[in-house]
Amino acid sequence: ASVVRFNNICKSYTMDRVEVNALLDVSGEIARRETTFITGPSGSGKSTLLNIMGLIDQPTSGELIILDQDVTNLSDKAAADFRSEHIGFIFQSFNLIPVLTVGENVEFPLLRRIKSASKRREKAKQYLDAVGLADLFDRRPGEISGGQRQRVAIARALVTEPTLIIADEPTANLDSQTSREIIALLDHMKSEFDTSVVICTHDTSLITQGSATINIIDGRTA
Ligand code: ADP
Ligand code: ADP
Repeated sequence: ASVVRFNNICKSYTMDRVEVNALLDVSGEIARRETTFITGPSGSGKSTLLNIMGLIDQPTSGELIILDQDVTNLSDKAAADFRSEHIGFIFQSFNLIPVLTVGENVEFPLLRRIKSASKRREKAKQYLDAVGLADLFDRRPGEISGGQRQRVAIARALVTEPTLIIADEPTANLDSQTSREIIALLDHMKSEFDTSVVICTHDTSLITQGSATINIIDGRTA
């Protein structure tokens, strides 16, 4: 079964009255409880596809189905609600809040969901433990390594128990050994937490054996 289906997606941007076609008729699907890699050279359209899949951006034409719901043309509000309910994001620059502790960063998405502070704390601890960082609860992002920051970001993405995790170049700022560890951790989460994982990377050496791959070149599936 697929959790995401995208059909005939086109996306163009107008820059200085010149039209840039970032995606030209891209179709595919993301299987449930699998890791799917989106690969391709820089500028090929990977981020554009992820942003559409994550309801951050809308396609110029085409159709997007997530969890059997047509989400192609949701209003901004409906898209934001759908996203917070079903999707967890991981970014290349981690996007942690520097003034909060590691634990508070992981608790952050729970603020509006869980009233009890002790329950939030317990959940954050559980997910930090899952990424191997339970001991760093009271540290701040500035005091830990890049690989550890990305683990915190993974815990924060997982804490709301999303159906879909979307990671846009999650290892771009990490050395190759740490990159492999982060990809292995994300890949492991699909079975551990019953989620689907989409990872965009230009580094094909990171693709896990047996995973699905969608290769984009010049805005088309290759
Ligand atoms: P990738 O993630 O593979 O590097 P992108 O999806 O970021 O590729 O970009 C695909 C193409 O679309 C590039 O030519 C890029 O410059 C262009 N593009 C992406 N976002 C915008 C935007 N907001 N405005 C104009 N052009 C954009
Ligand atoms: P990536 O490293 O994933 O390819 P980029 O650094 O190309 O991402 O783009 C980062 C952000 O800037 C994205 O949200 C993308 O849509 C936007 N962007 C990319 N290219 C352009 C462009 N030519 N003009 C305006 N925005 C762009």
